[in-house]
Amino acid sequence: MARITLDHIRHAYSAKAKAAGDYALKEVHYEWEDGGAYALLGPSGCGKTTLLNIISGLLHPSDGRILFDGKDVTTLSTEARNIAQVFQFPVVYDTMTVFDNLAFPLRNRHVPEAEVRSRVTHILEMTDLASMANRRAQGLTADQKQKISLGRGLVRSDVNAILFDEPLTVIDPHMKWQLRSQLKRLHRSSRFTMVYVTHDQTEALTFADKVVVMHDGQIVQIGTPAELFERPSHTFVGYFIGSPGMNVMPVTVEGALARIGEQAIALSGVPKLARGAKLELGIRPEFVRLGRDGMAIDIGKVEDIGRQKIVRASFCGQPLSIVLAEDDEIPADARVTFDPAAIGIFADSWRVGMEG
Ligand code: ATP
Repeated sequence: MARITLDHIRHAYSAKAKAAGDYALKEVHYEWEDGGAYALLGPSGCGKTTLLNIISGLLHPSDGRILFDGKDVTTLSTEARNIAQVFQFPVVYDTMTVFDNLAFPLRNRHVPEAEVRSRVTHILEMTDLASMANRRAQGLTADQKQKISLGRGLVRSDVNAILFDEPLTVIDPHMKWQLRSQLKRLHRSSRFTMVYVTHDQTEALTFADKVVVMHDGQIVQIGTPAELFERPSHTFVGYFIGSPGMNVMPVTVEGALARIGEQAIALSGVPKLARGAKLELGIRPEFVRLGRDGMAIDIGKVEDIGRQKIVRASFCGQPLSIVLAEDDEIPADARVTFDPAAIGIFADSWRVGMEG
């Protein structure tokens, strides 16, 4: 297992790249802890696979260095980096038994047979495959095959990291939940450094200790699920994480007040602003209070989603979502208040600090 340092890394697929926009991966400078579980989360095309391939060695970055436990591995192959990878589609040897599939990476490295038996038996139990150890892989379902791929990633004790590239894509929705929780348990018991690529926030938030949110070739925030929810650093994190996402509306700011239309909204302090930036106020739907007092809104529709309901409203001409508990009343002539502690002010999409 290893601590992974991304030292001023960036990557362009064209050798002629000059401007920041030419880079599929803009500069990343960060250290990932040994034994951490990280998810790379973002929409299609944001650079997740590019970053994963740079870590695995499939791709050499245009600039910067990558270090494992302080050792420069930038020019080393995947094999030399000692990385296990699990891809979207299971890679299994159909003619081999489940046991032999799992034993393959160990036997390949001439691990003594007694140790092969003990490690494979352990992995068979962890992945719930023990009952089919002696069956050929041919004819197994897609999720059983993907469990073999996951198991093969976990069976070696000497890997520096395990990288997962959307590993649950081919899995049935009802099995996804089970495999996701299993992976989390596997991480807890093995403490391998794991990096998991996904565009699905539920997968990222359940698997990872730290979620790396990517947008347009850039890491916009690295944080725990709670940090991403409570203090998004960028408006993209605000509306990508959460369902529905954060409400974001254009405002002007005067001291500790944000103004939108006729309304003045109290902030928890005075935002530290540079001149000329585009200013927005962000508040999560869970922190908008609905009652008889406060600012006027027009309620559009109310969506029932089980234990909660989502109120879709219009506030000063801007769409506003509000999340309520299923039995919360919606008063006639309902008005809203925003909890100042839950408000973020964003300048050119980035959260700004507050003074006072
Ligand atoms: P997806 O979820 O669709 O795989 P991603 O977030 O993994 O997307 P990347 O595959 O890393 O994103 O792609 C980032 C950008 O780099 C995209 O604009 C993509 O078109 C571009 N790109 C990726 N691979 C290549 C390549 N081999 N040559 C040129 N451009 C590429």
